[in-house]
Amino acid sequence: MIRTKTVAFSKNSSNIFFHILTKCNLKCRHCYINPGQHGKNTLPLSVITAWLEAFALNNNSKNLIFLGGEPTLHPDLPAAVEYARNLGFGSITIDTNGYLFHDILSKVEPGEVDYFSFSLDGATRATNDRIRGAGSFDTCLEGYPQCH
Ligand code: SF4
Repeated sequence: MIRTKTVAFSKNSSNIFFHILTKCNLKCRHCYINPGQHGKNTLPLSVITAWLEAFALNNNSKNLIFLGGEPTLHPDLPAAVEYARNLGFGSITIDTNGYLFHDILSKVEPGEVDYFSFSLDGATRATNDRIRGAGSFDTCLEGYPQCH
């Protein structure tokens, strides 16, 4: 089934944007993640699960969005997704630049991830790649259909 929404936001929903690492393979011109302000941490799975439990406390209907950096660079993302699913979050999204590292699509089940959100900064290769780097437009478009 092709869903037309990108994430499960709605007027009254609570949305948690969880940066699990700052590392990224791209250097987009507008990126607000930088080592000076945000460090170079990659959260260990034990810290991620502790935060997930805290986020789910009292109300587990929130929408959870895994971010980075590029979240698929985190080798424990599938385990984090599974843990979050078992905590009962309202929806789980992976926000990716489309490179889909660590063979992520073969390591998560369709029932575990509600949305993959792909980032582009332009409707054309020329516009996007000027901002996000050469090859990023094509890679993102190649990755997107694999999720449907
Ligand atoms: S893909 Fe996202 S995290 Fe990576 S450099 Fe671009 S904006 Fe920053």
